[in-house]
Amino acid sequence: MGNEQSGVRRREVLRGVALGAAALGSGACGSLRAGGEAPAEIPPAEPAAAPPAQPRPAAAALETPLEAPAEHLAELPAEPTAAASDPDANFAAPDLGDGSVLRFVAGVRPGRRGGYRIEAEEAYGKLLVHDYGHGGAGITLSLGGAQEVLDLVRARQAPPRDVAVIGAGISGLACAHALLTAGYGVRVLARERLERTTSWVAGGQFAPSLVSIPRGDSGSGRFERILRRSFAGFTRWEGEEWGIFRRPNFATSLTQGLGRLPADLAPRQELERLPFAGPEHRGLVVQTLMIEPPAFLTRLQQELIARGVAFSERTFGSIEELFDLPEPIVIHATGLGAGHLVEDPAVVPLAGQLVHLAPGDHPWLLSNSGYMFPRRDAVVLGGSVESGSNSTVPDEPRCRSILARHRRFFGV
Ligand SMILES: Cc1cc2nc3c(=O)[nH]c(=O)nc-3n(C[C@H](O)[C@H](O)[C@H](O)COP(=O)(O)OP(=O)(O)OC[C@H]3O[C@@H](n4cnc5c(N)ncnc54)[C@H](O)[C@@H]3O)c2cc1C
Repeated sequence: MGNEQSGVRRREVLRGVALGAAALGSGACGSLRAGGEAPAEIPPAEPAAAPPAQPRPAAAALETPLEAPAEHLAELPAEPTAAASDPDANFAAPDLGDGSVLRFVAGVRPGRRGGYRIEAEEAYGKLLVHDYGHGGAGITLSLGGAQEVLDLVRARQAPPRDVAVIGAGISGLACAHALLTAGYGVRVLARERLERTTSWVAGGQFAPSLVSIPRGDSGSGRFERILRRSFAGFTRWEGEEWGIFRRPNFATSLTQGLGRLPADLAPRQELERLPFAGPEHRGLVVQTLMIEPPAFLTRLQQELIARGVAFSERTFGSIEELFDLPEPIVIHATGLGAGHLVEDPAVVPLAGQLVHLAPGDHPWLLSNSGYMFPRRDAVVLGGSVESGSNSTVPDEPRCRSILARHRRFFGV
């Protein structure tokens, strides 16, 4: 292992797996939509996805400890107290003035034509399990996806065994937690700190938007099982400590993401009038969850560290490097990085712009043309999709147009 010839052979074998998986699923779902917004077509043909343009630490030393941003939780105010379940309520708009804008943000969703990839392969004496390509639904699918990963591992190698998890976004952390809890020894290696991941910038609604579902997963019920397992996991941690809250989403129409939620998890009801002050809008309310990514990720990382999981900074340049790790089991959860790392041409970047406004007491979510997710750290406005773009530099005109649409909705 490790010599040049075996490296080339390994690359050929594994590349074949990735290409085969992409081709197999390519007809499953080509068209994606964000909450009633511009359709996001995943381009039909594209060369291997470029490496992501997320900010990277300069020439990081191999396996230096990653800091846990523990101070973040202390800064968060308490949960807003107003009840949001009253359909006769008349909620006021958050302050949508220019003075309320905290920042513009851009993030890049790790899309994958043919669907997210949660599957195992065995080669060169190692078990490699992939968990990536969740598009605009990686928060939603994370805990359930991790349970699927655990099933794949446990069926092949029972604990206690050592596992290396590559990637410290929500997919990697969720897998680390599931495996640790099942009795595996876990360490996490990732290119960058938590705050620099896509997961950190996500809006955080529990709704599987902008993700292609593998054909097999919708037919077999696996997609629904992932949703149910995720929902059960998140509700177990519901509350301020983990940044998870039940929230009604008032929507002018049923969005793709909300529409995919099983009705018993996310009950919905038509409304003659959405309960907001200002211009009247018909619509519906769907009960869902808000998972505040910075709070949740910080708490999850703290939990892992407290339970003995080591985090190291390391950038992997090729799949061969995964096979040279000492652990017999490797979980590959590098999000957009997978396009380059395992040479998967089905991975596509789907950029999205966000506006962060000053937080307030607004215990509801709104989906109209785009979305408004009030959280404790910011009122997050978003919903744009720029298919093929992997830029994390905010696009100010698009951000301003997101803001303008929300002003029109509230008549301000
Ligand atoms: C604007 C926006 C809004 C969103 N809103 C929602 C929402 O409301 N609900 C929802 O469910 N989802 C939402 N998402 C989607 C969600 O953020 C992603 O699907 C999810 O964060 C993907 O998580 P991940 O862990 O797979 O990838 P990431 O968070 O990108 O983490 C990947 C990890 O892999 C590491 N890595 C990458 N390449 C390498 C390498 N070569 N070597 C070593 N490490 C590497 C990175 O450093 C990182 O630690 C949103 C996304 C965006 C951009």
